[in-house]
Amino acid sequence: MDPILEKYQALEERVRAYTPNLDAQRLYTAFTYADAAHHGQLRKSGEPYIIHPLAVAEIVADLGLDVDSVISALLHDCLEDTSSTYEEIAKKFGEPVAALVEGVTKLTKMQYVSKEEEQMENLRKMFMAMAQDIRVILIKICDRLHNMRTMEYQSPKKQREKSLETMEIYAPIAHRLGMQKLKWELEDTSLRYLDPVGYKEIQEELASRSAAHEEFKTSIEGRIAQRMAQEGIRCKVYGRVKHVYSIYRKMYAQHKTLNEIFDLYAFRVIVDDIPECYNVLGCIHDMFKPVLGRFKDYIGTPKPNMYQSLHTTVIGGEGIPFEVQIRTFEMHQTAEYGVAAHWKYKQGMANKQLGSEQDFEWVRKLLESQQDTDAEEFLSSLKVDMFADEVFVFSPKGDVKSLPAGATPIDFAYSVHSAVGNSMVGTKVNGRMVPYDYQLSNGDIVEVLTSKAAKGPSRDWLKLCKSNEARNKIRQWFKKERREENIITGRAAFENELKHAKISMASITAEEVLPFILRKVRFGTMDELYAAIGYGGTTATKAVARVKDELLRLGRLNEAKMSQSGKSTAESLIVPQTVSVESLRGSNKHSDSGIIVEGLGNCTVKFSKCCTPVPGDPVVGFITRGYGVSVHRMDCPNADPDKRKPEELDRWVRVAWLEENLPAYKTALELAAKDRDGLALDVTMALSTAKVKVSALSARSTADGNALINVVLEVKDREELNSVINRLHQIHGVYEVKRNSGN
Ligand code: MN
Repeated sequence: MDPILEKYQALEERVRAYTPNLDAQRLYTAFTYADAAHHGQLRKSGEPYIIHPLAVAEIVADLGLDVDSVISALLHDCLEDTSSTYEEIAKKFGEPVAALVEGVTKLTKMQYVSKEEEQMENLRKMFMAMAQDIRVILIKICDRLHNMRTMEYQSPKKQREKSLETMEIYAPIAHRLGMQKLKWELEDTSLRYLDPVGYKEIQEELASRSAAHEEFKTSIEGRIAQRMAQEGIRCKVYGRVKHVYSIYRKMYAQHKTLNEIFDLYAFRVIVDDIPECYNVLGCIHDMFKPVLGRFKDYIGTPKPNMYQSLHTTVIGGEGIPFEVQIRTFEMHQTAEYGVAAHWKYKQGMANKQLGSEQDFEWVRKLLESQQDTDAEEFLSSLKVDMFADEVFVFSPKGDVKSLPAGATPIDFAYSVHSAVGNSMVGTKVNGRMVPYDYQLSNGDIVEVLTSKAAKGPSRDWLKLCKSNEARNKIRQWFKKERREENIITGRAAFENELKHAKISMASITAEEVLPFILRKVRFGTMDELYAAIGYGGTTATKAVARVKDELLRLGRLNEAKMSQSGKSTAESLIVPQTVSVESLRGSNKHSDSGIIVEGLGNCTVKFSKCCTPVPGDPVVGFITRGYGVSVHRMDCPNADPDKRKPEELDRWVRVAWLEENLPAYKTALELAAKDRDGLALDVTMALSTAKVKVSALSARSTADGNALINVVLEVKDREELNSVINRLHQIHGVYEVKRNSGN
């Protein structure tokens, strides 16, 4: 029989084994469709191309993925390499299959350049974010695995490139998804091309001792099995030499020879349930001498990728140390197949109640999906939306930038440098010119065209950009570069707004009124106000509203409307006599606390330690004795209006945040979480990814198995703080994040 047809039939058998009601005709059609589409194409090995999709489909079936995934694996190179179209595939095999194939094609097209670690992490995130459906990632990993298995036919340059990419992107993602078996093979095949000498050395060394290894393995396996039989514990025992890359890493990281590697061997004891795991552990420690400090209980505290096992290292009579991993059959499935194990469970356990909360808890965590769908539906529509609020794009040189979702080329340009944004005259995305309001998608390659003759940003850009960074830089530019123009446009806007309010200009510029108006709008001169309106630091609407308030307070609103400038009564009003108008002018703009205190000019401002307000929080001030004004959050218990002492009522003053580029503010958070290894590390990682400055972090375990973590950090405003809080919430085990609220 035709060897290719034979391969197909093996695939069909494999799928049928876990799909009792398989529509074999549909699968066969997919095979013949792909075969015809790739007709005449050859692999580098000289084989017909169809061998590759068939092999990928076989690996996918080996993971036990659903039939749509297997069909998509058969078709995975059709969109890229043949004349097939999305529509055609959708018509023949359904929309879901077409979407999977398109997803895989997108990942295939993603360009890759090796970078420093921070960039790699962004690349991995982009990869995950682009996939949308977890099955796309799994099919792509299987595709890569088969390409690595057949890498020998490629040129040395290609071998290196693909291996590096596999080591830096694919293996870590396989690890994150808990797919240990695939991860090992990806690592070992990559190492073979990345360090052929080192790889060969280890492999040959291992081969030369394989007889001794075999003997040791059999002896230990036998002894454990015998003891288990005595104890009446049903189990499977098997040993192995660890995979090449893990040995390699230990040798090079610790500068050791193969002989000095501590635990070359790993034995597994697989049992029925958790209590037996601990029974087995007891027996093992009774039979062999445990190595101190090498026991790890990943059953009680699973790894973030949900790996569970008991690990211990012991020394046998031969003086050779080895690791023993003890787990249940279910844990074993999860360890080998990770996220894909859930498709496996589905097959083998028709009678077992599937989809208990616990089964899916970790997938849910992993994908940080908020949706609360029923388990079956959840599995079939696993969405990778953990980076929903970010979009990852490339510079032409292959640098990855993370921008807020919905970002435009303007955000990109300013994220490179303000000079790039300010001299931008156009943008290309994936080689095509696009308008400035173009919304960037994951994987886009963005090129900014600049010119020395550029006129600088336009005011519309403020509306088109998504990131604070771009917005601030654009405002900065208008503030600096276009003062004259700002004053003119700002003045026009202000006058227009004033006209709407039916207030005459003369009434507010009158000598006895103007200082109060300026104080109210928080600028030293009208030109400064106009300039600020011009560059977008404030708006004409806000300014006029304040002007109106102030006129009302001064009792001059009616006169103003009639354009009279009568006699002033203002002097008797609130401004403390000690504060001169001059000092007000100075203080308003240059307050470096970012706070304006109503009715007071140059005064010291400090932020209360009890509630550590940040810009955006509603705030109130309290005039202390000798220490200036202390600023509290409105919701701080210490500022509760009901609890203010009657004799201090006049000490409470209105304060407001300046609407300018503000400094960073210190604030404090308290996290409550289920205690586990690496918790504090994950918190630190999350904070560093969020790019906030942390000035103190302390963690302590509580008696009930929980942990409390206190963090003092610096943020720009409430918005940034909320985004940090969101990130912290996503950490495995964290169930509460709260701001300190006074005590
Ligand atoms: Mn392929």
